[in-house]
Amino acid sequence: MAKDNSDKWGEATKLIHGGVIRSEFGETSEALFLTSGYVYDSAQSAEARFKGDEEGYIYSRFLNPTIKMFEERMKLLEGAPDGRATATGMAAVTASFLCYLNAGDHVVSAKALFGSCRYVVEKLLPRFGIEITLVDGRDLEAWQKAVKPNTKAFFFETPTNPTLELVDIKAVSDIAHNADALVIVDNVFATPVLQKPLELGADVVCYSATKHIDGQGRCLGGMVLGSQAYVDDYLHDYMRQTGPSISPFNAWVMLKGLETLPLRLEKAQDNASQVAAFLDQSPLVKTVHYPGLDTHPQHALAVEQMNGFGTMLSFELTQGKEKAFDLMNQLDIIKISNNLGDTKSLVTHPATTTHQRLEEPEQLELSITPGLVRLSIGLEDIHDLIADLEAALEA
Ligand SMILES: *Cc1c(COP(=O)(O)O)cnc(C)c1O
Repeated sequence: MAKDNSDKWGEATKLIHGGVIRSEFGETSEALFLTSGYVYDSAQSAEARFKGDEEGYIYSRFLNPTIKMFEERMKLLEGAPDGRATATGMAAVTASFLCYLNAGDHVVSAKALFGSCRYVVEKLLPRFGIEITLVDGRDLEAWQKAVKPNTKAFFFETPTNPTLELVDIKAVSDIAHNADALVIVDNVFATPVLQKPLELGADVVCYSATKHIDGQGRCLGGMVLGSQAYVDDYLHDYMRQTGPSISPFNAWVMLKGLETLPLRLEKAQDNASQVAAFLDQSPLVKTVHYPGLDTHPQHALAVEQMNGFGTMLSFELTQGKEKAFDLMNQLDIIKISNNLGDTKSLVTHPATTTHQRLEEPEQLELSITPGLVRLSIGLEDIHDLIADLEAALEA
């Protein structure tokens, strides 16, 4: 066997060959091990495996070869020492907190979060005696001021859903580390290709693989990545014993998704920047939120901490909800769906769907106005996307 040099490969090579466990049949494409259990040669061997004296698989809640390939490939992509795949992105976020925190701990979180993340932070954690403080993620002083002696973790996403605000990963990580707090980043909007939170100082990164990693709208999945100590001391046992494990089938789909991730992102991102530029010059559009526009208030930070501006954008119409609904209903190619990161371009109205749980003042605090529309841009021909938006805006 050749020596494993996979950590020295370029990103595209890692995403195609990384983590492969080839079976005795020599298959080219990764094998799908759709099995819950494993057979032992002897009772002694079963005992040794449970004791950890013998390498091997025990049960697919713990480990499965297809899931392991997905984890290894994600570790290479992220440059993370270790990681665990989960059934969904929300299972990943929840695991990243619950494996680490105790009653009496305090968490500082940005308030601009994916709706379910906001539920976990704001409603679930306090039920287990974990204190929380929500801050404006853009405001470094607010992060600093929120720190208490029992602060154990910082949490944020960047860019945020749905208004594409940014959090300065490096600066916020410095503040957290001065307080001995762990920095957990939800990196879904940026993707592991376009932003590397661990290199910028974060400790733990969470993904919904459902989004760009599958990228074709088929399967749910997630991943938590971090240091060897975080995985060994906290995440490993939590995952084994509570069981938010991904299905081997879904892990296989994700594994194949990773192979084309950079190519898909390149095209979708190019489309997104052209859509943003088109919307930016429309008189019916008040504001376009896209980190790639030089009118974005944090454009300079985007250039500094991202390798690209991504495939997500949102915009605010000069008129409110009725016009937003009309526009969405007029769209033909761009489909109404709250999913994102698909080959198909998707449109959603955050105030009445993804963020409808928030009261109106909370929505407005996050710039989620009645006229705000979010777009996830896919791989269609750009002239069809622009024509679709143009016709819907004029209607
Ligand atoms: C979709 C999403 C999640 C949750 O992922 P699921 O796979 O749907 O559970 C978490 N954070 C962000 C930013 C997301 O977009």
